Amino acid sequence: MSATDTAASIEADATLTSVNPATGEVLATYPIDDEDAVRAAVAKARVAAATWGALTFAERKKHLLRWSSQLVAKSDELCELIHAENGKPLDDAFLELMLALEHIKWAASNAEKVLKPKKIAPGALMANFSAHLEQRPLGVVGIIGPWNYPVYTPNGSIAYALAAGNAVVFKPSEYSTGIGNFVAQCFAEANPELPDGVFNTINGYGATGAALVRAGVDKVAFTGSAATGKKIMASAADTLTPVLLECGGKDAVIVAADADIKAAADAVAWGATANSGQTCAGVERVYVDKSVADQFIAEVKRILTDVKPGSDAKASYGPMTMPSQIDIVRRHIEDALKNGGKAVLGGVESIKGPFIEPVIIVDADESSAAVTEETFGPTVTIKTVNGVDEAVQLANNSTFGLGSAVYSKKNGLEIARRLKVGATSVNSVLGFAAISGLPFGGSQDSGIGRIHGAPGLLEFSRPHSIAVQRFTIPGMALLSYSRTDSTMKLLRKVVPFLHGRHK
Ligand code: NAD
Repeated sequence: MSATDTAASIEADATLTSVNPATGEVLATYPIDDEDAVRAAVAKARVAAATWGALTFAERKKHLLRWSSQLVAKSDELCELIHAENGKPLDDAFLELMLALEHIKWAASNAEKVLKPKKIAPGALMANFSAHLEQRPLGVVGIIGPWNYPVYTPNGSIAYALAAGNAVVFKPSEYSTGIGNFVAQCFAEANPELPDGVFNTINGYGATGAALVRAGVDKVAFTGSAATGKKIMASAADTLTPVLLECGGKDAVIVAADADIKAAADAVAWGATANSGQTCAGVERVYVDKSVADQFIAEVKRILTDVKPGSDAKASYGPMTMPSQIDIVRRHIEDALKNGGKAVLGGVESIKGPFIEPVIIVDADESSAAVTEETFGPTVTIKTVNGVDEAVQLANNSTFGLGSAVYSKKNGLEIARRLKVGATSVNSVLGFAAISGLPFGGSQDSGIGRIHGAPGLLEFSRPHSIAVQRFTIPGMALLSYSRTDSTMKLLRKVVPFLHGRHK
């Protein structure tokens, strides 16, 4: 079965082989979970959800923080596994883990504040009521993850769903199965007294993910490509299962005339190529003011000339994790060069086996694939523009709306506010992803809903509104056939007073 095969049926006794993308070495094989196994995992989670959901916020916090401590205790082993299975350098693996730990702590520590019952003002006409807004866990959340940040990215759903009182069934990407199972195993090791199934994994390709969507979960939280997100939403529609979709991006950076050019070039060089460019909110496009374009392009080129991929300790970034992505990167480079683009660093010759060296393409036509589609490789397009208005217009002219960045000493915040995206970093790239209290997510092809922050907790809970009639007001039985003419007469006097005085 191929990685992209999403056929409904799963071959009996099929296995999934995890391979080191840098060397081709086989790391492990895993049995693939078929439809029955997926349903069994959801049923187990449903039983565990009753126990986990009934705990207090403080108890869940204790269990989540124990999980963090176990991840820290096993961080060397986990980072080695991330390096081997995903290909990224060990330091990048540690940074990814560190950011995930920050989110686990934030979700565990803030769940009570965000989700605790709140009293709501009932309003003048319902003054004899008390009103309560209570957030309940959804039950079982099915989480389908990608491979590019195999710990950090799905954790944005896993930690927040758990903190909100849900059990989780997690299908890691077929390219990060070992890592996903390691993380779940750490939760179980840290919390042996909890029932099996609070956080469990299922393994397989797209067909296993598709089975999870159909398995009666209470929400599907998906991170991956827009194409898969659309299939998941269509399938989930059959049962009106709600979906959270964290999909791809085509993030733009605006470099204004008053930008700190060295800082902007440093950020663009890193944001475009770190993690081999396999970052959903990585830098893919740059719009730079013509007054500073030459200086900026020269500086990005200077930095990236010394940046090399590899799998040794000195490598700046690793191989392409998913071999099929290499063809997409090649197609985008070729298309950009055919459509007016000039390669100022690298070109198709930068693709060397599973490694791709940095590629900078200047002034490619805005209709070329390298500008319109997600490339997900260590390449960047840079376009010279006539001022901020043109930069904003071109940045917004995308089917994606995930992240973005602005470099300007004086007007960064104002420019940021004009961008149609879920998040913007001013005078930095990707800063928003490291601030746990800030929600993360996009619009259009970048998806639906938010992970992280208070909205990320609310995504995994269900509001329950409760109205309690504390006493009756004689003659004011509004919601009853015993309502009298005098009640209506009174209301006709009260309503203009309440709502009719604004000129
Ligand atoms: P993908 O869509 O190929 O796969 C993602 C997951 O979906 C995998 O686990 C896969 O097995 C599963 N899947 C595939 N077909 C399925 C189906 N029909 N039903 C259910 N599940 C199915 O994406 P990928 O290549 O793993 O990840 C890269 C993409 O993820 C990029 O587009 C990237 O931008 C995006 N991404 C987004 C974010 C974000 O937070 N917005 C974060 C990381 C990655």
